Amino acid sequence: MTEAAHSAPTLVERPVSIARRHGQACFFCGAVHKPMRSAGSVQLRGSDRVWPIVTCGCREGK
Ligand SMILES: [Zn+2]
Repeated sequence: MTEAAHSAPTLVERPVSIARRHGQACFFCGAVHKPMRSAGSVQLRGSDRVWPIVTCGCREGK
């Protein structure tokens, strides 16, 4: 993934829980009791709102 891709929001087709959208839970697995780090941003289809998201590392973990 390039730096440019990192800054562009990922288009999400499905509804996403409020906690995940608000960066209170890992966007990918929903964990809430782990250290979180920024994981870029997402944009929900049909909305122009961009949400910064966080991850516990479950998607990057290597
Ligand atoms: Zn996770």
